[in-house]
Amino acid sequence: MLQKLSDCYTLNNGVKIPCIGYGTFKTPNGSTVVNSVINAVKAGYRHIDTAHRYDNEEGVGEGIRKCGVAREELFITSKLGNHHHGYKAAMEAFDLSLRKLGLDYLDLYLIHWPAPLVCRENYKEKNAETWRAFEELYRAGKVRAIGLSNFWKPHIDALLETAEVKPMVNQLEIHPQFPHQDLLDYCRELDIQVESWGPLIQGKAFQYPVLKEVALKHGKTVAQVCIRWALDKNVLPLPKSNHFERMVENADVFDFTLDAEDIKKISSLEVYGRIGKEPDTAPF
Ligand code: NAD
Repeated sequence: MLQKLSDCYTLNNGVKIPCIGYGTFKTPNGSTVVNSVINAVKAGYRHIDTAHRYDNEEGVGEGIRKCGVAREELFITSKLGNHHHGYKAAMEAFDLSLRKLGLDYLDLYLIHWPAPLVCRENYKEKNAETWRAFEELYRAGKVRAIGLSNFWKPHIDALLETAEVKPMVNQLEIHPQFPHQDLLDYCRELDIQVESWGPLIQGKAFQYPVLKEVALKHGKTVAQVCIRWALDKNVLPLPKSNHFERMVENADVFDFTLDAEDIKKISSLEVYGRIGKEPDTAPF
């Protein structure tokens, strides 16, 4: 039973991953992200999510060095950029991410998107090559776990045809508007831990009266209901806020659970569907 932010899920290779991560998408590099990371750690977060694409790895690294908590107590994720698929490019991109972060290992490295425009025509071959690089980095101990992001079933199946190491994580758009239950079930069957990006529907959650109603019933906030909703599905949410009091609020989710009536009400939001791009048609 998860009771606090630093409590962990266990990945299929035995590595422990703190059950809520701190998101840094759109947080500008420099003092904003440095202070956000320091504050997140102060609020109790031990898991930080960044990516090459967020262009803030240097600041995330500076925040890690200044936060006052030992590196080994933190769980740091980064992701391969869309222009770096393929064996050699992935190896170089990993080294660049490490250098920018100022770290000598990562806890988790993900392929950010399965079929970027630059290799949409031959994405299966490219992902197979990329995964070979990921496996080598994993076996060399440079990364403690490797995984996927935005991989739907066909992308996962194609990768598994040649993979020697099974992915440990798939980071997906998952929230009350888009539970993506069939994909979640499939990942669970494969023992791949699902993380939720956009757990607060990228801020849209706050416009829904139904979420306010459920929040009021439990004496909690809309953000807390969304984060609890993810945890109740054994999904690992990555909420993002640059405000300290909201970071604390988003972590205060261990004293309630949602009941069947709440879940039914929340499911009425599914009509609105996903907010992000589909991996096979995204314009990047
Ligand atoms: P989110 O669902 O976490 O929502 C963030 C928005 O909610 C921000 O505008 C923030 O100000 C607001 N917010 C946060 N807490 C609040 C609170 N308590 N009260 C009121 N408003 C609050 O959206 P996100 O940042 O897109 O997703 C979370 C993380 O997931 C990202 O930061 C990133 O690390 C990751 N991500 C990954 C992908 C991917 O393709 N793998 C895509 C998007 C995001």
